[in-house]
Amino acid sequence: MGDPVDTKTLLDWSNRYHVTTYARAPLCLVRGEGVRVWDSEGREYLDFTSGIAVVALGHCHPRVTGAIQEAAATLIHVSNLFHTAPQIHLAKLLCEHSFGDRVFFCNSGAEANEAAIKLARKYAREQLSSDRYEIIATRNSFHGRTLATVTATGQEKYQHGFEPLLPGFKHVPYNDLRAVERALDNRTAAVLVEPIQGEGGVNVPDDGYLPGLRKLCDQAGALLILDEVQTGMGRTGKLWAYEHWGTEPDVMTLAKALANGVPIGAMVAREPVARALTPGSHASTFGGTPFVATVALATLTTCIEEKIPERAARVGKHLTAGLVGLKAKHSVIRDVRGKGLLLGVEVSRPAAPIVTGCREAGLLVLTAGDMVLRLAPPLIVDEATCDRALAVLDSVLGAQGHE
Ligand SMILES: *Cc1c(COP(=O)(O)O)cnc(C)c1O
Repeated sequence: MGDPVDTKTLLDWSNRYHVTTYARAPLCLVRGEGVRVWDSEGREYLDFTSGIAVVALGHCHPRVTGAIQEAAATLIHVSNLFHTAPQIHLAKLLCEHSFGDRVFFCNSGAEANEAAIKLARKYAREQLSSDRYEIIATRNSFHGRTLATVTATGQEKYQHGFEPLLPGFKHVPYNDLRAVERALDNRTAAVLVEPIQGEGGVNVPDDGYLPGLRKLCDQAGALLILDEVQTGMGRTGKLWAYEHWGTEPDVMTLAKALANGVPIGAMVAREPVARALTPGSHASTFGGTPFVATVALATLTTCIEEKIPERAARVGKHLTAGLVGLKAKHSVIRDVRGKGLLLGVEVSRPAAPIVTGCREAGLLVLTAGDMVLRLAPPLIVDEATCDRALAVLDSVLGAQGHE
């Protein structure tokens, strides 16, 4: 831990010793409970970021913390050379509560998407033809920061400077079935999309989009991969976002909220697709340790038993109604969109000053691109707490001359 130091020294050291990948807010968070976090100066904040849609059950949820303590004192890591019960129970629970038949565990969203891309290539090559490897992804998507997933990500700002990118990826506009239809050919291994684009602006597709993609993939013999890294675990008001449209993918990727903040990724696939990854073809040293699997098991069990998705749907309606009310009052708000507790507020000026204003008033919020505020509170948030957040946003927009 080191000796306690004052906040200014900490922030100086942060500037000095970190690789400069992040534009962090000038505060140091030290403690969290439920929807609240505290900084090193003792200031309290309402956390409507959830650590970027990760801490879905809130900070230090007793069942999660209990699982962490128990797992830490039992068995932390042995590698996938051996069976471990928590990983088996977690895979079984994920399959019982989704379309999936088999699960591969890794440590992040990017890694889960890497696994899905590798699976799609191997499946297509072996089952269809040796020159079938292409992945169709969408513009404004976000799939991660590894070279393959940043190639899949349809935003140049994340790719710039890292060229050459990987071959075998095509991008089409999101929510455009005709564009996918035109892009699909006998080289397509898979279509990879987010059911709702998160980082790209909280973009909700038309109701026909996912069912349409399913049909197009089936006709072309391509796999449908849904990136539910952000939308999964109840965030949108269903356990998995695909349930909103009654459309099942062949492969789904998970990470963010799966262990409520302990790093984990998962790729869920149906048979016979999953079988393309044979022993030795893919692996992860840390993937699904007994430690993280115990925590994820506690998280997923709590999510299901306590009907967290239903709660997110209900409270999300309340928060959405409040935001629509603010839109009527503040002309800077162009659009309010999203599902459950993944909500986007499109504004007509850069969102960053609004984020700063909210933070200074004790409310932490996210952006999704330059012009969209993103609200993703813990799914245990209640209506009264949403009203407090709405009041802060109302006063910040008013004070910044956005009336
Ligand atoms: C966050 C995110 C990722 C990347 O997850 P990491 O754990 O940061 O690698 C991938 N896809 C989506 C949709 C995400 O929101």
